Amino acid sequence: MFSYRHAFHAGNHADVLKHTVLIATLEHLLEKDTALTVVDTHAGAGLYRLDGDYAGTSGEASDGILRLLAPKQAAAAVALAAPAQGAAKKSPKPAAPPDAPMAPAIHAYLDLVRAFNPNGGARVYPGSPFITHHLLRDHDKLKLFELHPTDARTLDANIAQLEAGRQIAVLREDGFGSATKFLPPPSRRALVLCDPSYEMKTDYGRVLDLIGESLKRFATGTYAVWYPIIPRPEAHDLPRRLKTMATKAGKSWLHATLTVKSSKVLTTVTGDQKRPGLPASGMFLINPPYTLKGRLQPALEQLKVLLAQDRHAAFSLDSGG
Ligand code: SAM
Repeated sequence: MFSYRHAFHAGNHADVLKHTVLIATLEHLLEKDTALTVVDTHAGAGLYRLDGDYAGTSGEASDGILRLLAPKQAAAAVALAAPAQGAAKKSPKPAAPPDAPMAPAIHAYLDLVRAFNPNGGARVYPGSPFITHHLLRDHDKLKLFELHPTDARTLDANIAQLEAGRQIAVLREDGFGSATKFLPPPSRRALVLCDPSYEMKTDYGRVLDLIGESLKRFATGTYAVWYPIIPRPEAHDLPRRLKTMATKAGKSWLHATLTVKSSKVLTTVTGDQKRPGLPASGMFLINPPYTLKGRLQPALEQLKVLLAQDRHAAFSLDSGG
């Protein structure tokens, strides 16, 4: 347990999907004046350095956020990471010229990341707590759960710098077991983001238990679940079971997926088996904003092209209820 560190993956294609959907959802929910409570059940460390050892070693951001930023910025950020091996070897392959018109949802995502890098480049990548806080108004609330001892300490220190007082609570508790204590919030408006590491295969069942219990307590909340698309039955079943849960509860749902490469295990010339790394991921929302599908369609069309690593790149966008 707890071998997962999000710092290795910050800004990768899965974060691009997740954070683009998160921002588009929040932008809609924040149009109403009534206070919103955001519960982030698996918060991570909050802020990540893309020029640091973790991100540099994995180089995952170079096939995610760095591809979307202007080529000059991408090159600068990768150059900054040069001492670390992975990022320097991988080219950022930015697919869009600097002024290519981006879909509004991608534009909003890039603008937000740029706000954390006022001197240009992309040295700092905001995780879900900082993305959310950036958009919240003073009367909204943010509840952050993080169990990893090191990441919880880092999150605490990062959040302390915001001097946000009682607006933000950092809880070193099990997000699966404790998040429902905030439901329903006094204003009866909430977004729950559930973004586990799926390190243990029991996480899939725990997501379902959490969403089921949450819907019982607060049927009108908005629930957003990220999951990896990998060849594992639990991962395959999760969106199907969330859809059944939403349909049985009479709630609307939206399901977005982004594939950047084939999931096939490759055999090298020496006969070794090479796993491809995460090929795809999905976001499943219950009670999504009615504007979300229209906002995501053009964004996913572009992300498929911009983040493609081979000809298997694809996206899907379904909704119901
Ligand atoms: N949501 C973050 C973001 O978008 O920036 C990334 C979160 S990362 C995928 C998952 C995090 O959940 C890890 O930092 C891990 O330590 C933490 N974690 C694992 N099990 C947990 C649990 N039961 N409760 C709370 N946090 C947990």
